[in-house]
Amino acid sequence: MNSPYPYLLAPLTVGAVTLRNRVIMGSMHTGLEDSRKDFPRLAAYYAERAAGGVGLIVTGGFAPNIAGWAKPLAGTLATHAAASRHRVITDAVHAAGGRIALQILHTGRYGYHPFVVAPSRLKSPISPFAPRALSAHGIERQIQAFARCAALAQEAGYDGVEVMGSEGYFINQFIAAHTNHRTDEWGGSYINRMRLPVEIVRRVRERVGPDFVIIYRLSMLDLVPDGSTWDEVVTLAKAVETAGASILNTGIGWHEARIPTIATSVPRAAFSWVTKKLKGEVGIPLVTSNRINTPDVGERVLAEGCADLVSMARPFLADPEFVNKAAAGRADRINTCIACNQACLDHLFVNRKASCLVNPRACHETELNYTPAAQPRRYAVVGAGPAGLACATVLAQRGHAVDLFEAADDIGGQFDMACRIPGKEEFNETLRYFRTRIADTGVKLHLSTRVAAPTLIDAHYDSVILATGVVPRDPQLPGQAEGAARGQVLTYVEVLRGQRPMGRRVAVVGAGGIGFDVAEYLVNGGHSATLDAPLWRREWGVADPEQTRGGLGRPEITPPAHEVWLLQRKDERLGQRLGKTTGWIHRAELHKKQVKMVGGVNYEGISEQGLAISYGQQHEKAELLEVDTIVLCAGQLSVRELQEPLESAGVPFHVIGGAALAAELDAKRAIDAACRLATTL
Ligand code: FAD
Ligand code: NAP
Ligand code: SF4
Repeated sequence: MNSPYPYLLAPLTVGAVTLRNRVIMGSMHTGLEDSRKDFPRLAAYYAERAAGGVGLIVTGGFAPNIAGWAKPLAGTLATHAAASRHRVITDAVHAAGGRIALQILHTGRYGYHPFVVAPSRLKSPISPFAPRALSAHGIERQIQAFARCAALAQEAGYDGVEVMGSEGYFINQFIAAHTNHRTDEWGGSYINRMRLPVEIVRRVRERVGPDFVIIYRLSMLDLVPDGSTWDEVVTLAKAVETAGASILNTGIGWHEARIPTIATSVPRAAFSWVTKKLKGEVGIPLVTSNRINTPDVGERVLAEGCADLVSMARPFLADPEFVNKAAAGRADRINTCIACNQACLDHLFVNRKASCLVNPRACHETELNYTPAAQPRRYAVVGAGPAGLACATVLAQRGHAVDLFEAADDIGGQFDMACRIPGKEEFNETLRYFRTRIADTGVKLHLSTRVAAPTLIDAHYDSVILATGVVPRDPQLPGQAEGAARGQVLTYVEVLRGQRPMGRRVAVVGAGGIGFDVAEYLVNGGHSATLDAPLWRREWGVADPEQTRGGLGRPEITPPAHEVWLLQRKDERLGQRLGKTTGWIHRAELHKKQVKMVGGVNYEGISEQGLAISYGQQHEKAELLEVDTIVLCAGQLSVRELQEPLESAGVPFHVIGGAALAAELDAKRAIDAACRLATTL
């Protein structure tokens, strides 16, 4: 049979190791690396991905010593005893037919602890700790730690190591003049600044012998001031190859860069052109990465000659069987990573274990399992938003008979509106996935069916799951009803469904996630830079590193399609409660489009002239915003009208998602609660 993805699924031999395909599961910290008690969980998580067909797994980062910790007591590999504890991981991956490399991560000045070290005493903008500048002797100790860590990884049964040299971490801090102000042999000229990575790779190779895989992750586009020129990138790549690296992986952007590199609004494979520039300059295989999330995109970048392998990290949280499904010609069954960061990166910032919004089993493989039901039963699920979809499909997968009722003529609920926001097109993939799951698991879907309590009572289901979600809250502002009658006041639903004409000047009432999204929708006038990579690069100022250091260009902003005021009553910075790793992107995007973000307002009234507001408890500084349209994004209320009649009739029921609690609802909570309930029924 012809391979559906001939480039992606071709094997590759590197040193003594043959990879079964060109797909690398890139390094992704999960929080399970930091405590030995979590190693069995980590082993199960990796083994499931190995069984799912991935060519090579790279672990989350392990520090080579205390100075390299990402945070206090972060996962470290520095002793034989520690190496022996890793056996549970390497054995599990090998038993599942996979290959695994350990990432050596020294965070340098990015470490969140007081023992941080760096080439120079320059605090990073994203860490509270100023680093200690290393002496020459101190540098030698770090190099020794890298080499020791690699040797211990080999002893632990890993097939290779990845030396993390990008993303603004320790090694990168030596390479860039931005962070290296030294005047000794480790600073100054480029030859001196790149001495550290070259020496590390050379010493690692010396310790591990010729056959062990050494991946070097090279920062090809720093996206910070005083980053590397393209000549420097090529020089380093060649030197690292000569020093003994077997594979070069692509790093894009330092963590402190103010250009998004992996968020959902970044175009797919947005940076593969950078890796392609290096093709032909070195003889070892090149890996490209960043926002590659489907087999088609992976195949395309390889076919276009951008690289020899592709690295995907979060897509393997979303679906451990990514590669097997692609190989079977069923890419439509892949649960696609939507690059939201909500359950993976955002969790790590608040010291929670990573998981996945679209796959709550990720990193919970030992406790959340969809096993066949002991006794198949009949269930009705009401509402085909994220909660209902997840619950119905897991119940059916477990062998239950499930009727799924949806009032609208398609599935998705509120999530169907999220897909319409420029930069959130990926959310369509989740709905595509659920459509195939409904078909594969045999859920009986009843669209355009607003089910009423008597129907549910008469059908004698074993239980009813209410996933009826939310409706927009009506803030009942003075003059709102008259404004609505004039077509001047709209709900976000009317706007996103394109049901009503809009004026040019718009006030958005409410600056939660939906207020921000609606503002984004308005200023972009229906055009999405996420689907237009050259426009996206211009808007964010991503330049060719041959023209400008570190690829940092001057942003060119397309004028906004609407003049927008984004308002809230709370007297705090707007967007403060958005996701940790993505909130700054939303704020920056609206800022670029001159959205006026105003907090601490009172809504005094709506008239034909616009929206009157004042500020503070004393209702001071009254002003009239002369807007044509006012869009209400004032939060939501639960829909639970079926609960009482079911309760009275003695029908067993459960309430999940927005129907259970509208406050601080998101799709992550809705899907997680749904899957967990479905395993208990
Ligand atoms: P809902 O999505 O509200 O679904 C409930 C469904 O039940 C609806 O389809 C409704 O028609 C149906 N229903 C109700 N009553 C009946 C009945 N009697 N019979 C039949 N059917 C019925 N979340 C995130 O996590 N990340 C984001 O980035 C994000 N962005 C968003 C952007 C926008 C513009 C919007 C609007 C929402 C966004 N959300 C996001 C929120 C997310 O979509 C919701 O949290 C999620 O959809 C809630 O899921 P749910 O299943 O509980 O409810
Ligand atoms: P939200 O986050 O609760 O925000 C509601 C907004 O409305 C707030 O700004 C609030 O601010 C305002 N508001 C509340 N009651 C009001 C009233 N009576 N009159 C006027 N203003 C009022 O809700 P949302 O924006 O509707 O989002 C719903 C959920 O979807 C969120 O919980 C969010 O997690 C999820 N979502 C997530 C994302 C994401 O990127 N992760 C994106 C979109 C949506 P004040 O009270 O200060 O005025
Ligand atoms: Fe991808 Fe979001 Fe899942 Fe993270 S939480 S792996 S970004 S879908």
